[in-house]
Amino acid sequence: MLEVRSLAKRYGDVLALTDLTVNVGERSCLVLLGRNGAGKTTALRCMAGVLAPSAGTVRVDGIDAASDPAAVRARVGLMPELPGLYERMSARAYLDYFGAIYGMDQDVRKRRIDELLDLFELTDAGDRWLGTFSKGMRQKVALIRATLHRPRLVLADEPTSALDPDSARRAWAYLKDLQAHGCALVICTHNMDEAEHLGASDDGDAAIGIMSAGRALAIGDMPSLRVRSGLQVRRETRELPTLQDIYLAVISSYSGNHQHELVGSRSA
Ligand code: ATP
Repeated sequence: MLEVRSLAKRYGDVLALTDLTVNVGERSCLVLLGRNGAGKTTALRCMAGVLAPSAGTVRVDGIDAASDPAAVRARVGLMPELPGLYERMSARAYLDYFGAIYGMDQDVRKRRIDELLDLFELTDAGDRWLGTFSKGMRQKVALIRATLHRPRLVLADEPTSALDPDSARRAWAYLKDLQAHGCALVICTHNMDEAEHLGASDDGDAAIGIMSAGRALAIGDMPSLRVRSGLQVRRETRELPTLQDIYLAVISSYSGNHQHELVGSRSA
């Protein structure tokens, strides 16, 4: 599905990316981790056909991004970290506009926009201008926009960095569902929970790339990365639930006055 060979990108004196080679198959996910400035966004933009590499090749479905970038872009859904949304458009109109550009039939795009606004709890806000949306709401709209047409390949740059933990889990489940239906995913993130949800699988349909200073230091599935790290066991074992465990337990058990029961049971 996605074949990247010896990819490199130079911005003037800065070598942002060098010698990246990786394949991502149908129903597979690659998660890119790495330090700030490691070259993850640069790699993603080259894979999407929106940035011309200085060297190397990107092929999507066998199509070379340098010779036919428009055909590559048609197969890809790119979710940038900082999406430029049209501030004076409602979420619904904005998504409908992009659905039409993607060539989706009116009925199909209406149904899918309704489903996805509902999934991400934006139904009530759907007719408001995007300029009034919070950061997290904008990020949800950007995720919907990038995936509305069910592209063959989804490239997402820190897709949940502005989402609350509950919404982030919804987004991960949604991305996993796209993957299960045949989509290939490449996700850049700094969030280890996200990386574990999306990229950590022992059955070969997921891989993690760890990058630093423009280079992939290691790429592989969890078993091969465990071997590469030399770690036999976890460095740290937590006996007590983490704050995230507690937060998600409280949020998921919330219904009406059930929340008070939780608070009450602690003080009883
Ligand atoms: P972060 O985790 O901080 O988002 P990243 O891994 O996504 O970082 P990139 O955004 O790909 O990193 O940047 C890689 C390098 O390329 C950095 O040194 C950055 O300063 C440089 N760079 C990125 N875009 C440009 C640009 N348009 N012009 C010049 N240098 C750039």
